Amino acid sequence: MDMTPWPWQTSIWQRLIALANESRLPHALMLTGPAGLGKERLAQALIARQLCQAPGDTACGACHACQMLMSGYHPDLMEIMPAERGKQIRIDAIRDINAFVSQTAQQGGYRIIHLAPAEAMTVAASNALLKSLEEPGRETLFILQSDIPSRTLPTIRSRCQQWSHPQPERASSMAWLTGELEDRQQAEFWWQVAGGRPLLARDLAAPEARQLRQDLRELFESLVRGGDPVAEAARLDKQALSDILWHGVLWLEDLIRLGVSGDTESVRNRDLMPLYRQAIKNGRIRDWFRLLDYAHEQRRLLAAGGNPNAQLVIESWLIRWSALLRS
Ligand SMILES: [Zn+2]
Repeated sequence: MDMTPWPWQTSIWQRLIALANESRLPHALMLTGPAGLGKERLAQALIARQLCQAPGDTACGACHACQMLMSGYHPDLMEIMPAERGKQIRIDAIRDINAFVSQTAQQGGYRIIHLAPAEAMTVAASNALLKSLEEPGRETLFILQSDIPSRTLPTIRSRCQQWSHPQPERASSMAWLTGELEDRQQAEFWWQVAGGRPLLARDLAAPEARQLRQDLRELFESLVRGGDPVAEAARLDKQALSDILWHGVLWLEDLIRLGVSGDTESVRNRDLMPLYRQAIKNGRIRDWFRLLDYAHEQRRLLAAGGNPNAQLVIESWLIRWSALLRS
């Protein structure tokens, strides 16, 4: 378990700690913001600090509670997450929470329930959680995390204090990213692609993710030159549909922004500018919007646990891309 927040989380961390020091932390907080900002680490640092027996600005890292946490088990912490990434959190897990909060803390301090991501709860699970959120008992802290809070039940949201993760400060997160990638220029490039989300930037710069992006870029180039979309789709058969769509959405958003306003500053994939210019010459903005809608719809289906035929989805999407580029 990580005991300290990321360097770009200083301001939100200080606000949380100020409340904790005045014993004014809410009994339930929901940390929101898109993936790649470090919400998980912030939650862990807060959990550690609240369970620590001798906390300073962060957990001490040395006391019995900290040692238990670092060994991976603390009796007053319950962590709830889906069995597998992308799966749901079911009502059984919530029943465990309700039993947990009805006991007193083993170590005489806080009892903490960390649940992530909140949008993974089924409706039945959410409804079961409401009771504990309403009558939490003393010294109980719920920390819920959500990438997409609009997908959680309003009744859950309204019982939590919302903490929206701020956009990371450029200086501190760029310094971190430069250290991670060992190259300032690379850091600048991936930072821009990731929309300023440092952990996402690091993940995108990893070799496998980089290769996928390179493959997609070559595919896009081929389509712009009039390549066959079905043949091109076959090149992607080993890649995750969600990752392909993620890039596709980003590129279409770039294209649309560029096409509507001509604004090059907000373009996230700067290296694709020549392709964008060619595409804008060929296609119409409202058709780009349709492609974007299609990609969003497929991503929504995937997120809802759907299992579409990836090859068909990609083919159909690329055929539309290609038709636009030729029109
Ligand atoms: Zn400690």
